[in-house]
Amino acid sequence: MSDNTKAGPEPSERVAIGLTFGNSNSSIAYTVDDKAEVIANEDGDRQIPTVLSYVDGDEYYGGQAKNFLVRNPDNTIAGFRDFLGQEFKAVDPTHCHASAHPQEADGSVSFAVKDKGGEEAASTVPVGEAATRYLRRLVGSATDYLGKKVTSAVITVPTNFSEKQREALIKAANDADIEILQIVSDPVAAVLAYDARPEAIIEDKIIVVADLGGTRSDVAVVASRGGMYTILATAHDYEFAGVHLDQALMEHFAKEFQKKHSVDPRGNARSLAKLRLESEAAKRALSLGANAQFSVESLADGFDFSVTINRIRFEMVGRKVFEGFNRLIEGVVKKAGLDVLDIDEVIMCGGTSHIPRIANNFRGIFPESTEILAPATSATAINPSELTARGAALQASLIQEYEATDIEQSTHPAVTTVKHISNAIGVITVGPNGDEFTPVMPIETAVPARRTVRIAAPKEGGDVLIKVVEGGTHIKVTKAEPKEKAEDSDEDSDFDSDDEDEEKREKIWKVGSLLAEAAIKGIKAGGQVEVTINVLADLSVTVTAREVGGKGGVRGTLSGQ
Ligand code: ATP
Ligand code: MG
Repeated sequence: MSDNTKAGPEPSERVAIGLTFGNSNSSIAYTVDDKAEVIANEDGDRQIPTVLSYVDGDEYYGGQAKNFLVRNPDNTIAGFRDFLGQEFKAVDPTHCHASAHPQEADGSVSFAVKDKGGEEAASTVPVGEAATRYLRRLVGSATDYLGKKVTSAVITVPTNFSEKQREALIKAANDADIEILQIVSDPVAAVLAYDARPEAIIEDKIIVVADLGGTRSDVAVVASRGGMYTILATAHDYEFAGVHLDQALMEHFAKEFQKKHSVDPRGNARSLAKLRLESEAAKRALSLGANAQFSVESLADGFDFSVTINRIRFEMVGRKVFEGFNRLIEGVVKKAGLDVLDIDEVIMCGGTSHIPRIANNFRGIFPESTEILAPATSATAINPSELTARGAALQASLIQEYEATDIEQSTHPAVTTVKHISNAIGVITVGPNGDEFTPVMPIETAVPARRTVRIAAPKEGGDVLIKVVEGGTHIKVTKAEPKEKAEDSDEDSDFDSDDEDEEKREKIWKVGSLLAEAAIKGIKAGGQVEVTINVLADLSVTVTAREVGGKGGVRGTLSGQ
């Protein structure tokens, strides 16, 4: 990494922003008074298409460049972020069929575009250079907006971005004269954006981040323990994402058009490009309204086409894709060795997370106690398209005053995988009413960690026996009495609710192996016992138990679990 890092600006002179740079869209965010805001470019876009287009030697970027996919596809570069730092033979060019094609140059990816104007031949633009040009425009927009030169950025990437891809990204940014303060993973940036809300209660919790984008969907299970984020499991999918919904709508509209005019608009590249752009627009409109207009002038053979589509029809057309999202999210929870009941929050981010059907399906998968943070299911949800940029901007404002070397040392481990306990630890108090289990340290707590609980002693006081144990949870399933079958009149394509045999599922504690026992003698009536559990980095456990306000206590050390 170091050979790419130029000497950056002095910390006191930095102007740092948060950036997300996706295959489909990018965003810029800036923090003022601890509040991160996504800022618009000169076209007024906050989600800025990751597209560059060259017309007569002029470079266009963002929404203007995306519109050139209809008239100037060969000189338009799109869908390239994931190609950074990859070998040509490893990349999937599927999403570049309707724009400049990736070509092999020295084993890596480049594009041939006429970027000079006049009669000049096409130039070869390596993917790193395309990224540099794009990032320069993006940061240029931020500089214009803020009225001061942006020097530095925190940028987010998917969790499976390789070291080579990260290096290529840093180089591309440095070549555009942007210092990369830190690379943060997308799901952690999304969690940071939520945790920074003034009303946020930072408590131990397990979060699923579903980042549903244009060309890919990435899901992660993140444990948040005492301000440390541990990524427990991730899954990546390239079959179910926004473009697949566009594809389903394109087929639907093409068939309708064909019925009416007997021409297939998919037979011609320009018609296909129009069909694609308008299908995406209709899809986006359906996230807000129950109906959307699909309307294209001269779609094919000179015929205009204008129809409306409603949300229910869209949900039927995209059904397979929606089911794919459900499997993806269920799969990642399993992969983390957890149950849906263990999940406290689902943070939905990425443009596709605006779609109400997806959030409603997730609502049906998780128990009521799980918060589904999406516009359709939560009044306090943050715009899913803005989460990662905001998280990056918050991180940028935290670290911009540090020297580059300190940033690397101080902040990397906090957001990467750290050691954690694989079972919960809790205390059993043996009292007149039998054993009672109190969880002290939840499963997946990052170590070293220290937690204290206070447990009421029996009313009359006396001797209290406590046992420190490992705990696991297990899911108790009780079948409800069969209900009378309601008439199936629900038109709303609720294809996900499978409620024939309704089950009640709850999480109950299962006590595992005993770690320590202690007897606290002669506690006064109404007294309390305080138990502190300290797990060190080598997973050894120290337990201290004492009467609150009392003298002395019991202390013991156990070796690693
Ligand atoms: P990727 O890297 O996966 O290609 P990205 O991270 O660059 O994607 P995002 O902006 O997160 O891009 O997601 C883009 C997708 O979200 C597109 O398919 C777009 O059509 C879709 N999208 C954006 N806004 C909405 C909306 N309001 N309703 C439905 N879909 C939307
Ligand atoms: Mg993304």
